[in-house]
Amino acid sequence: MARYIGPACRLCRREGEKLFLKGERCFTPKCAFDRRAYAPGEHGRTQTAHGSRESDYAKQLRAKQKARRIYGILERQFRRYFSFAEKRRGPPGLNLLQTLELRLDNVVFRMGFAVNRVQARQLVSHGHFMVNGRRTDVPSMVLEPGDELVVREESRRTTFFKDLPAVAEKYPCAIWLERNLNQMSGRVIRLPERGEIDGNLNEQLIVEYYSR
Ligand code: SF4
Repeated sequence: MARYIGPACRLCRREGEKLFLKGERCFTPKCAFDRRAYAPGEHGRTQTAHGSRESDYAKQLRAKQKARRIYGILERQFRRYFSFAEKRRGPPGLNLLQTLELRLDNVVFRMGFAVNRVQARQLVSHGHFMVNGRRTDVPSMVLEPGDELVVREESRRTTFFKDLPAVAEKYPCAIWLERNLNQMSGRVIRLPERGEIDGNLNEQLIVEYYSR
């Protein structure tokens, strides 16, 4: 499936805030946004990332782009997620965020099995995980409460997964998930509540963007 392969730090600079796309590096002085907190491109220094007189449309667009970039999703699929969210019962904005959170690559990341979503996506697409006993290599797979994932037996022999329990200790597991580092497995306990979804997202603006 298609994905953005350009520089991640450029996206933070474009959005005018840190999106924490790279994991540990984001918390070090090497962070590109900390060093150059202005929009990329020739005119980046002369404009703020969001512009001083932002129209409603611009705010909605930026909110949507930010969410897309945080989760690493291209426009077409993001729009499809929104259509699903609209059809489900409940507020479409929250439905959308819950769907994004329940993507398999995001769940792997939230369980602390990967340092960022890009790495999580790669681990999934290389077929290292089984979901409910079946091998899968589809990062966009949307899980449900009760679904279980486990690192495949063959993959556990690789250096990455041998070191994983010690490395993953440093990364907390989301409260709506549970993980077992010794068994390299985890489970979706329930849907995440709004307060448990971080990333400074404004789902209301996203809904307005797609409802124009
Ligand atoms: Fe964004 Fe992280 Fe790059 Fe900093 S290091 S600009 S937070 S992706």
